[in-house]
Amino acid sequence: MSIARFWRETPRRYNLGGSKCTICGTVYFPPRAVCPTCPHHRQTLEKMVPFQLVGDGEVFSFTVVHDAAEGFEMQVPYVMALVKTVEGPVLTGQVVDVEPGDVQIGLKVRATFRKLREEGKAGVIHYGYKFTPALESDVRPPLRGPAAPVEAVETPTPDRAPA
Ligand SMILES: [Zn+2]
Repeated sequence: MSIARFWRETPRRYNLGGSKCTICGTVYFPPRAVCPTCPHHRQTLEKMVPFQLVGDGEVFSFTVVHDAAEGFEMQVPYVMALVKTVEGPVLTGQVVDVEPGDVQIGLKVRATFRKLREEGKAGVIHYGYKFTPALESDVRPPLRGPAAPVEAVETPTPDRAPA
C-alpha cells in the first residue's frame, strides 16, 4: 500500500481535536476553554471536554484560487472551502482529488491528512488536513452521542453528474 493510500484510508491519522461543552453540547474547533454559546460563560470553564471531530462534512462555501501563495505554486488552481462538519464547527481547508469545476455547495467531503506546503530553503514540510470528496456510503455517524447537530448527515445530497 502506498503512503498516500495509507493516509487516505486511515481516518484517525489527522488530528481534529476540538472541545465540546457538556452543558449545551456545542462542539468547537479549534478547542475553546469556555462556551460562548451558554448564557453563563464562567460556569462552563470546567465543563469543556476534548472532542475529536470525525472529519466529515459538506462544502458550505468555496473559492477557486488561481494566484498561489508562496509554497503552493505547484498546485494552482486549487479550491479553498469552508466545510460545515457533521458536529457543527466550520473548518477552512483545501479540497483535493477533484476538479475545481466539480466542487459545489453541498458537496460531501471528508478530512484527510496531507502535506500542506513545503518551505523552500529549509525544506520544512507541514502536514495538516485537507478535504476530499466523500461517497455517500462513506459518511460515518458521529462518534459520540446525539448532542451534536447531525442535520448535515441527513440532508439529501444534491444531484451530481456521475464522475
Ligand atoms: Zn455551552
